[in-house]
Amino acid sequence: MEKNFQQVWDNCLQIFKDNVTFQAFKTWFEPIKPIKLENNVLTIQVPSQFFYEWLEEHYIMLLKKTIKKLLGDNGRLEYSIIMENGSSSKSPATINFPASNQNNTKNQPVSMPIDLNAGAIRNPFIIPGLKKVKVESQLNANSSFENFIEGDSNRLARSAGYAVADKPGGTAFNPLLIYGGVGLGKTHLAHAIGLEIKERHPNKTVLYVSAEKFTNQFTDSVRNNNHNDFMHFYQMIDVLIIDDITFFAGKDKTQYVFFHIFNHLHQNGKQLILTSDKAPVEMQGMEPRLLSRFKWGLAADLQVPELETRIAILKKKLYLAGVDDMPFDIIEYLAYSITSNIRELEGALTSLLAQSTLNKKNISLELAKAMIDKFVKNTAREVSIDYIQKVVCDYFNMPMELLKSKTRKREVVQARQISMYFAKSLTKSSLATIGAHCGGKDHATVLHACRTVNNLIDTDKRFKSYITELEKKIAVSN
Ligand code: ADP
Ligand code: MG
Repeated sequence: MEKNFQQVWDNCLQIFKDNVTFQAFKTWFEPIKPIKLENNVLTIQVPSQFFYEWLEEHYIMLLKKTIKKLLGDNGRLEYSIIMENGSSSKSPATINFPASNQNNTKNQPVSMPIDLNAGAIRNPFIIPGLKKVKVESQLNANSSFENFIEGDSNRLARSAGYAVADKPGGTAFNPLLIYGGVGLGKTHLAHAIGLEIKERHPNKTVLYVSAEKFTNQFTDSVRNNNHNDFMHFYQMIDVLIIDDITFFAGKDKTQYVFFHIFNHLHQNGKQLILTSDKAPVEMQGMEPRLLSRFKWGLAADLQVPELETRIAILKKKLYLAGVDDMPFDIIEYLAYSITSNIRELEGALTSLLAQSTLNKKNISLELAKAMIDKFVKNTAREVSIDYIQKVVCDYFNMPMELLKSKTRKREVVQARQISMYFAKSLTKSSLATIGAHCGGKDHATVLHACRTVNNLIDTDKRFKSYITELEKKIAVSN
């Protein structure tokens, strides 16, 4: 009686598992699908010709022994290969192998008996001499670790990057996937890791490439009929950095070829560093098997930097630009105003510096305010509650903690009420949000504060002058 093919395959897997590393098992055996068992011939489906060649090259003995053990001396193994064709990978064409020509005679796999006497198996990857080719790493020397300010928002990603730079391919962080919103430092960090590796391991071949460029190179290679060169090139890289992999979304062929490069490099202990503006679970249009690869290593996110980090970044940029006389209140104003995108923050600083030199104006807070307003006009910016509180605290010479505390001291209560008043009139925040920012008060307290301040403006001249002065300090000129 014919045995159940799934059962036979499960037994095979058990043997493979005991004989290869976990990683190898995951890469090369798990993706295989058994298809049928007829006349003692077990047919398995593999994802590509590359896959087939790899199995034959590296695991032929194991395969042979396993088949013999489970199916007896005349047991045989047959491959059916999913071809990469224009159509969706969900309906794979099964083709004859070896394919003497590319006409797809479907669903008739030709038997490929394992032949141990087949002599040396051709290694399709190593081209003599190719190893000596020097690869330009495409790294930007300014995007170094030294210039990458550390903060809570990037600590995990940064230290994982350091670990990888120390032992490329030798940590559990493979691949290292850096993800986070636009302008939060993914590209910078990826370059920094690459530069650090070159520094510490001068013999390693490091390559930085955007997913877009990779895709174009691949497409060109297909058009120019040198797809093999493309594969060979990527397979000899020691540290491959691919930026913005979400560009691969929906590009089946590119994903397919990247999948194989990924496997090849990973299998050989090479390091992969990837960046993405989405977490793996949120990536759309990616092949599940590729996504599952991303989970092998570490996914570390970059978050929005906190105020101190933003200030430190601005100071670093000024230092690098050779500017040492920027008033601190302007740096602070910038850091308070642009919160969620470091590239924008930097852009504002650059325009500010350009403005001041072009117009021979001294940089003043007024100039900064005018400029920022123009700069971030499209992003519907409003003054933040934090900034209001800061200005009020500075004005009354009071620590911010006090304002946010529950203290009922008269002058603190007043400063708090003024902050609430400005927050209500200058931001779109709800009364509840404003209250939460000012020592955990409820909306009724905020409403009361606004009334009190309005009353005092009408009745108390000195108080009114405070408000007018503060208004000027907070206001974004237009
Ligand atoms: P992403 O690739 O995430 O969109 P980038 O890496 O291009 O962001 O970073 C945007 C800008 O912000 C770059 O000029 C980069 O140098 C700068 N930047 C980001 N994070 C930091 C940091 N921690 N320290 C210094 N500069 C940073
Ligand atoms: Mg980037």
